[in-house]
Amino acid sequence: MKINYKKYDAVVIGAGCAGATIANRLANTNKRVLVIDKRPHIAGNAYDYFDQDKIIIHQYGPHIFHTNYQEVFNFLKKFSPFFKYEHRVLGNLDNKLVPVPFNFKSLELTHPKKEASQIKKLLLKYFKGQTRVSIFELLNHKDPTIKKFGQFVFDKVFAYYTAKQWNIKIKDIDKSVINRVPVVLGYQDTYFGDKYQFMPSHGYTYMFKNMLRHKNITVKLSTNITKHIKFKNKKIYLDGELYQGKFIYTGAIDELFNYQFGVLPYRSLDIKLSKIKKTYYQKAATVNYLTSEKFTRISEYKYFLKQNIKGKTVIAKEYSKAYSLKGKTDPYYPINNTKNNAMYLKYKKLADTYHIYLSGRLAEYKYYNMDLAILNALQLVKKIK
Ligand code: UDP
Repeated sequence: MKINYKKYDAVVIGAGCAGATIANRLANTNKRVLVIDKRPHIAGNAYDYFDQDKIIIHQYGPHIFHTNYQEVFNFLKKFSPFFKYEHRVLGNLDNKLVPVPFNFKSLELTHPKKEASQIKKLLLKYFKGQTRVSIFELLNHKDPTIKKFGQFVFDKVFAYYTAKQWNIKIKDIDKSVINRVPVVLGYQDTYFGDKYQFMPSHGYTYMFKNMLRHKNITVKLSTNITKHIKFKNKKIYLDGELYQGKFIYTGAIDELFNYQFGVLPYRSLDIKLSKIKKTYYQKAATVNYLTSEKFTRISEYKYFLKQNIKGKTVIAKEYSKAYSLKGKTDPYYPINNTKNNAMYLKYKKLADTYHIYLSGRLAEYKYYNMDLAILNALQLVKKIK
């Protein structure tokens, strides 16, 4: 059926974290909003569902919510109940399970007692008052004992995992990517250090459904905007008609402009699910394979909602892979470097000439967590208004 775009004050492309947030906030100020997504479902990569055994499945890999921004958490709480969930990760390091981020317990499990206690003492002396430190600070430290310890953690925790995940030389990876995972100076063993660590009690899709359930919002799924949009004389045409409302785009920016400046590089993922006839498969929600295996990590989804289901569990193995248009792979992780960011800026400038608002991981080409995608979307709405 033909869409009457003129009916809408805003068209939002994408129903993920950024798109759903923007649509909801605009609708709330009485704007009529049309949300279009090319996939047959809402929630973007945070999409989840319950399988026949009622086990939660994160179709696009594990999504754990955590934030330091009260504004983001308060916003999301309008759409779902949340419960306290602290994500814990173990690393399989030479067949031993150690906490990740690497902490004092990991240190004790991998070093002789005397050595471990000497390293601990030095860490506490040099980084007094700090609870976390970047691996690069250890690697570049003047004290040879700290430097050696840094090299150990780098080799055992970061080198092989990062090679699997990114398939480029570690020196070519933006340091901020590696710095997402610190070394912990103590026994704290949660994966994230954020103030708010909660999961939506009924899954993400439920929460996004409520965000989009609004009298001023219409959602159209399985619709690829590139088949409906034309750009001419700094104006946007939708199905041949001039569109003068707000146009907000949260998808891959290069796709919108037909890849005219090149394909923006990403890493993609294959998620291999298996059902296992056991109540639990592993000792933590996620186990990172630091020194072996081709996959990066295994997540056991039942942990995410603390589901009490006996005799059955589902695990997801993540295989990182190349992103290519031919392979019809999904873009997951932007590969931010000088060259790629410069290509992105060309697209951004072009989008600006059409007054297109860009928001989210794909449209901004930034390795955002969910909370930052939502925070920036909330801020963008203030600008749009
Ligand atoms: N990383 C690592 N070893 C780990 C965990 C992470 O080397 O055990 C590195 C790796 O380069 C990864 C980055 O840190 O891509 C960020 O990890 P994070 O867990 O934040 O990635 P995400 O959950 O977004 O895939």
